Parts: sequence; structure tokens; C-alpha cells
Amino acid sequence: MATSNEDSSYYSSGFSVTGKSRPAAVNTDSRAAPASSEIVVIGAGIAGIAAAWFLHEAGLEVTVCEKGIVAGEQSSRNWGWCRQQGRDRAELPIVIESLRLWQQIADQLDTDIGFRREGSLYLCENDEEMARHDRFMSFAPEHGLDTRRLNRRELEDLVTDCPGRWQSALHTPDDARAEPGLAVPAMARALRARGVNILENCAVEAIETTNRRISAVVTEAGRIDTSTVLVAAGAWSTFLLRNCGLRLPQLTVKASVARTAEAPLIFNGNASGSQVSFRRRIDGGYTVASSDYLEIFPSFSHLSYLRDFMPLVRASLGKLRLRVPELRIDGNYTRHRILDPVPTPKTVARIRARLADRVPAFAGIELVEAWSGMIDALPDVVPVLDRADGIDGLWVATGFSGHGFGIGPGAGKVIAKLIQGQEPGFDLGRFRFARFSDGSKLELGPLI
Ligand SMILES: Cc1cc2nc3c(=O)[nH]c(=O)nc-3n(C[C@H](O)[C@H](O)[C@H](O)COP(=O)(O)OP(=O)(O)OC[C@H]3O[C@@H](n4cnc5c(N)ncnc54)[C@H](O)[C@@H]3O)c2cc1C
Repeated sequence: MATSNEDSSYYSSGFSVTGKSRPAAVNTDSRAAPASSEIVVIGAGIAGIAAAWFLHEAGLEVTVCEKGIVAGEQSSRNWGWCRQQGRDRAELPIVIESLRLWQQIADQLDTDIGFRREGSLYLCENDEEMARHDRFMSFAPEHGLDTRRLNRRELEDLVTDCPGRWQSALHTPDDARAEPGLAVPAMARALRARGVNILENCAVEAIETTNRRISAVVTEAGRIDTSTVLVAAGAWSTFLLRNCGLRLPQLTVKASVARTAEAPLIFNGNASGSQVSFRRRIDGGYTVASSDYLEIFPSFSHLSYLRDFMPLVRASLGKLRLRVPELRIDGNYTRHRILDPVPTPKTVARIRARLADRVPAFAGIELVEAWSGMIDALPDVVPVLDRADGIDGLWVATGFSGHGFGIGPGAGKVIAKLIQGQEPGFDLGRFRFARFSDGSKLELGPLI
């Protein structure tokens, strides 16, 4: 599929290592909070907006409260991969459906959000790297996925001037990509046009219960009476739930990303090797990142979760760095209205060096912007999609652990169905909230 520059004005901000691609705000007028709403969704990232999309489609009255701007946090900062490849076994059927939903949604929007089924490649330098995909290949075919192992000759047919060190690859041709800075804001605009209340600059400060039933949310714009609340608040979900007496072990992991200027087309989809990852963008550049470098920033308020994360930390040794917190993430939702960490200069330098080293076709291509995002990770790196036990009317869709963009529409539809008391059509046992408290042995999903 040809690329286009139709949204180039959006990307035209100059080089910056301290800013990020800001999503186009939906509408920054400060609407008053309604006195009541059938359902209140907390958080206007992909999880909250997708849930609102399907709840509204089902005829329910939804209000979305967002403390900053629509998609101001992870949902506009991610790599833009919508991948089925390499997924956890339980996520796979949901993400397959999610890609179908992405297409359906994209067809209804006023903007080209760059949704293209151009495939994903995991590039391998040796047999050991390819062997890491055996587990996924043991169940992918039973879901009808067209994932294949490519040898060097087959890879050369897909990647222009394919660098010599990539000997083989795992390839899923109908994986997709989309533009994170455009997608969720466009969905929110469409919802607003259909009459859905999406309130920006409207932090939910507390969730109120009466006799263990949801009765209201208290926002900075006023109180909204409701019987149903969906917590889809990304990195902040743990604090909203803590205030309801519920424990969700959740940490924030910083990831830095950059984009290149327009560059030669070498592969039109998503590609990742052991050192560097890149994804073709609709503006003719690439979103690029180091594949193996993440930083954990536990705030004081996260310390009680560190034990829950030991298995994940052990499995990711060499990739994770522990850092002194640079931002305070806790139950104050207006201190950082938009979680906008400064991209780590060393990481950006590393991305630049690795790109030049691994992909000679990109030598001399400028990085024109860099940004960072805080991934909300759970100990087993799969989300919670569930009701909160013990409080009637409280639902949770959070903890997507670095891969929630692609699965977002699918997850939104699942939680919308659960809220309506309908059968979601998927086995959701792996996404239970209670797995962190009922003594279940956690099984690590594919690493972040
Ligand atoms: C650098 C990076 C790269 C990634 N790459 C990919 C990728 O290629 N593919 C993929 O599938 N996923 C990727 N991800 C992960 C993906 O972006 C996330 O999993 C997904 O966006 C999570 O969506 P969310 O709606 O749960 O959270 P968010 O997008 O973080 O949204 C949560 C929202 O809730 C709001 N909020 C919080 N507390 C309150 C409150 N009290 N009141 C009101 N509002 C509140 C926040 O302001 C925020 O806007 C990446 C993430 C990062 C950071």
C-alpha cells in the first residue's frame, strides 16, 4: 500500500528530545460534568474509548472522564504495531477479532488513521533467536493465523536491501499498523459527534460506593451519579482501585521512541530485531526504538508491589533498568495531567546508533523527534478484563503491559459485553482480577 503525506502538518513539529507527537485534542472546551450517567468510563486511552464505542453502539449512555487530553498518555505514544504475532495464547483470539474491528472503526472515521495490514516481521540473526518463537508457533496455526518462518531468500523478497545479519524471520502478513497519534482522537471525535460525553481536563478523584455498590464518581468538574464505572486509567488504575480497597499490582516502565524523517521504503509494516525495531508511518518515515531497553520507575507508592514483579524482573534481566523516579505517580491525578516523561537522551543516542548499524539503508536519515511513554505493566504482562469482586458495578480494563494498542478495540468490545451481562465469546480466565489475590500461580506472558 502506498504511503501518503496527508497528515504531514500533524507531524511537522521540529526536532525535539523533550516533547512527543501530541495527539490532536478532541475538543478542549470544558464541558460541565452531567449530574448522572448510566456508565462512567475513567480514562480516554484506547481501552476507555474503545469500550465507550461499543457501549454507545449498544445504546447505553456513557460519559468518559479524562484527566488530561484524549490519548495523551500511552495510546498516542506507542509504536503503532497492531500485531497478532507473538501474542499470549489467551490474547490471540481477541487480537484477531480486534484487527477486524480496527478496520471497521477506521472505515467510519473522518481521518485516515493509517490502519494498514502490511505485516509484522521478527528478524532473526541466528537459530537461537528463531527458536524463541517455537512456543507461539505451537498454537498460532490452530487460530488460522498465516504466520510463517521465512528463510533468508524469502526475507530478501520482502525487505529491500536486506541487511546481511538477518538470516530468517517470523512473518505474519496480515498483521497491521496504525498511527497512534491519530487513531484514538479520531475515534473520540466520532463518538462526540454521536453525542457521547467525553470530558477532558476532568480527573476522577474518587469512586463512591454505597453498601458495596457503585453510586457516583467525584470529578474535579463535579459529581456524577452512576451505577457502573469502568476503570481504564492506564498507569493510574492501581490508585483508583486502591481507593476502593482493591489491590492491583501495577508498575510503570518507561520506553523511549523516535521517528525518522521521510526514508526509503524497505519494509511497509512492523519489523523488530534483537537490537532495533521500526514501523513504517503514513508520513513516509519510520517510528523507531531500541528493542531491548526499558526503565522501571517505581514511585514510593509502588514499592509494595516490587515482590509481585520479581519473576518478571528476573525474566527480563539485561533489558530492564531500575531508575530513581523522575515523576511522581500516585493518587494525585492532576499533578501530571499528562504523563509526559522526557525521553532518555542515552536511549535516543542508542536508537540512532543502532539504526545506522543494523539498517544501512537508514544511514544518514535524521531522527526528527523523540518521546517517551510510561507502560503500565502487570506482573504476568497480560491485562485485567474483569469485574472487581466485592463492588457491584465496578469494572476494570487495564494493565495491557506494552501491547494494548492493537488489542484495544477487541478488549473494549469484550468489556462492553461483560458490562451488559453478555457472553463475550472468549475464554477470559487468564484476565481475571482475582489472580493476584487468590493464590493463583501466575504464568508470565510474552515479555514486554
Ligand atoms: C513507548 C510505547 C510503545 C508501545 N508500543 C505498542 C505497540 O506497538 N503496540 C501495542 O499494541 N501497544 C503498544 N504499547 C502499549 C499501548 O500503548 C498501551 O497498552 C495502550 O495504549 C494502553 O491503553 P490504555 O487506554 O489502557 O491506557 P492509556 O493510553 O495510558 O490511557 C489511560 C488514560 O487514563 C487517564 N486517567 C488516568 N487516571 C485518571 C483519572 N483519575 N481521571 C481521569 N482520567 C484518568 C490518563 O490520563 C490516560 O489518558 C506501547 C506503549 C508505549 C508507552
